[in-house]
Amino acid sequence: MKPSDLLTPTPAGLYCPAADIYIDPVRPVARALITHGHSDHARAGHGAVLATRETLAIMALRYGEAFTGSQQVAAPGETTRIGAVDFRFVPAGHVLGSAQIVVEHKGLRIVVSGDYKRERDPTCAPFEPVPCDVFITEATFGLPVFRHPPAHAEAAKLLDSVRLFPDRTHIVGAYSLGKAQRLMALIREAGYERPIFIHGAVEKITEFYQAQGIPLGEIRKVEPSGRKAEGRKAFAGEIVICPPSAIQDLWSRRFPDPVTAFASGWMRVRARARQKGVELPLIISDHADWDDLQATIREVQANEIWITHGEAEALAHWCGTVGLKGMPLHLVGYGDEGEAEPEAKPAEASA
Ligand SMILES: [Zn+2]
Ligand SMILES: [Zn+2]
Repeated sequence: MKPSDLLTPTPAGLYCPAADIYIDPVRPVARALITHGHSDHARAGHGAVLATRETLAIMALRYGEAFTGSQQVAAPGETTRIGAVDFRFVPAGHVLGSAQIVVEHKGLRIVVSGDYKRERDPTCAPFEPVPCDVFITEATFGLPVFRHPPAHAEAAKLLDSVRLFPDRTHIVGAYSLGKAQRLMALIREAGYERPIFIHGAVEKITEFYQAQGIPLGEIRKVEPSGRKAEGRKAFAGEIVICPPSAIQDLWSRRFPDPVTAFASGWMRVRARARQKGVELPLIISDHADWDDLQATIREVQANEIWITHGEAEALAHWCGTVGLKGMPLHLVGYGDEGEAEPEAKPAEASA
């Protein structure tokens, strides 16, 4: 059997004919396997969804309980047979509940990584490399310019700035699923003990992380404008975490003389930071950087590397230089929520 007979790229996403399922479909399908809760991978409106317990819970939080016709939990490491194909969910280290999906049939093994990273993250299980024949990878940061510095050093920059400007509010843009909570955990590890303030859009997911036993310390919601419960002074010297889209809108004007920060792998590109009016860029990413993409590809020992999205051509070219077959799949529909905030509104869920 050819790998492309086991998993076939289609406009709706990767399709497995022998099991009649799609992985991370971008359109509503009868049966879907979902790698993680970011909105470009996890959409509402499928007939049935198989995913980790956390991913199912995150989808229900964002889209409502009726996000799918039926749901089934994929327990970590456990094999689920569909048709004659075996599927196994293995941690991807990207956000809470994120998994790679190992697809096995007649001795052929394909690993669909979904989004992943290799750097330690106190809020989710680490990526586990699985040797395979074909490794399907993302390439969000698949260019040599993208080398992420240690995340704890970036978090320390934020805390240094807070010490330096004790009267200013630090408003930090961070994606609401994963990045925001990872940043909270990082600054707690660095010893920051004050309450952390959050925008309402970050609240549900943050509470879910806490309910899973991830210690994030005291989190307080910034009340909607109009209610003058807190004076402007209340936020002097505090850290406020919000979705990136809120940095530049009216919402942010309530804070006195704010320092605007943004936690993203894209902050490596100074022009992007300037363009978004970011004063304090923090290079913290939930995606593998150029070195980690290469290290992972070597580690899984696959001969063929299929590349779903991101800098597919550049990574495919690198594969060729080390004797591997690299193939861009040109799958459409995966922007990296990771790095492009989706305000998960139910109405947009299946768009
Ligand atoms: Zn993605
Ligand atoms: Zn993602």
